[in-house]
Amino acid sequence: MRFRSKFFYERALKVIPGGVNSPVRACKAVKSEPIFFERGEGAYLIDVDGNRYIDYVCSWGPLILGHAHPEVIAEIYFASKRGTSFGAPTWQEVELAELIKNCFPSIEKLRLVNSGTEATMSAIRLARAYTGRKKIIKFEGCYHGHVDSLLVKAGSGLATFGIPASPGIPEELTSHTLNLPFNNFEAVKKTFESYGKEIAGVIVEPVPGNMGVVLPKEGFLEFLREITQKYETLLIFDEVITGFRLGISGAQGKYGIFPDLTCLGKIIGGGLPVGAYGGKEEIMNLVAPEGPVYQAGTLSGNPIAVSAGLATLKELLKPGVYEKLEIISQQLEEGLKEVLKSLRLSYKVNRAGSMLTLFFTEREVVDFETALGCDAEKFAIFWQKMLKEGIYLPPSQFEAWFLSLAHREEEVEKTIKAVYKVLREII
Ligand SMILES: *Cc1c(COP(=O)(O)O)cnc(C)c1O
Repeated sequence: MRFRSKFFYERALKVIPGGVNSPVRACKAVKSEPIFFERGEGAYLIDVDGNRYIDYVCSWGPLILGHAHPEVIAEIYFASKRGTSFGAPTWQEVELAELIKNCFPSIEKLRLVNSGTEATMSAIRLARAYTGRKKIIKFEGCYHGHVDSLLVKAGSGLATFGIPASPGIPEELTSHTLNLPFNNFEAVKKTFESYGKEIAGVIVEPVPGNMGVVLPKEGFLEFLREITQKYETLLIFDEVITGFRLGISGAQGKYGIFPDLTCLGKIIGGGLPVGAYGGKEEIMNLVAPEGPVYQAGTLSGNPIAVSAGLATLKELLKPGVYEKLEIISQQLEEGLKEVLKSLRLSYKVNRAGSMLTLFFTEREVVDFETALGCDAEKFAIFWQKMLKEGIYLPPSQFEAWFLSLAHREEEVEKTIKAVYKVLREII
């Protein structure tokens, strides 16, 4: 029972739009009401009614060490005792920036911000300033935060100029955004042939997680690297999810494709608000006060947030960490596939490292259109029943499930058993 969640939700509805501070939390896509949480412990979340769940949201990615990791909590505590914010530089910011630079060979200089949205917004401003061009290519189903110019819908046809995906965004602000299908070489090629010399940047989640997990086709990232070089356009990897998730050098390290600019967030704040954008020194030197491109933040590089990020990254630098994550994630993937097989279901599981999605469709999911082919209604029922089994999944079909280093065989086995039980009931 979730009486107290209901109680808080009713109060929240009166003071907060939809009762939540970020829309997906409302659980509308799975026809449910939000759960209010009291605390997290490792791989578990405990709600305000005392129910315990295995958590596969992990705060949408940041909590790669699990909830309330002792090292992270200790660093937050010590940092906060020294003061919460100075509006002036601290040594921790230098350490975090150096650590990120050492892990990401394509990042020579970087700037810390407060969120992934700020990182992508600033990277785009910088790409436009550097190239003196206006157009941006993005891909359908990729999410880059709620930046006006990146909140676009796809029109019909291959290369279409973005239509605002939300009221409140004038068409003028999205008219320079070209929205293309992910993994579609031809669409990218044609768009460059038409507008190549007007395109400032191509922004992409190298492994999209925001339409559910979709893998880049063989050679796709390489192709983006080559074509952007040919047209002197900047390639921007939005690694807000994949940075430090797919490995210590993110997706770029995994695939060996190096962008001009990289956006980071989520894990680098260890559960506190931190984002970053960085890249080639020549480009980054355009950022104020070194250069003319303005970008600032009262709380940017906040000492508490940066300390949580540093503590998290230091844990990730320990040997064997990503191997351990890979093993447990592989167990979940294989377990899910066995369940599907035994129930004669041909639903798809897409996985990259410790992020995966179980798609309720029989078609391969390679882009936004194929993701939309899923039976989201059935997923909603699945989600509700999984919750009853004590498993908290992302409350939407079009999201990644995240594992953490706190997820052990025990949790994964329990999850697989629950998936079997629930799928058998609903098919
Ligand atoms: C979460 C996310 C963002 C936005 O980050 P916020 O911190 O929510 O502003 C941007 N890009 C990607 C790929 C994300 O997953």
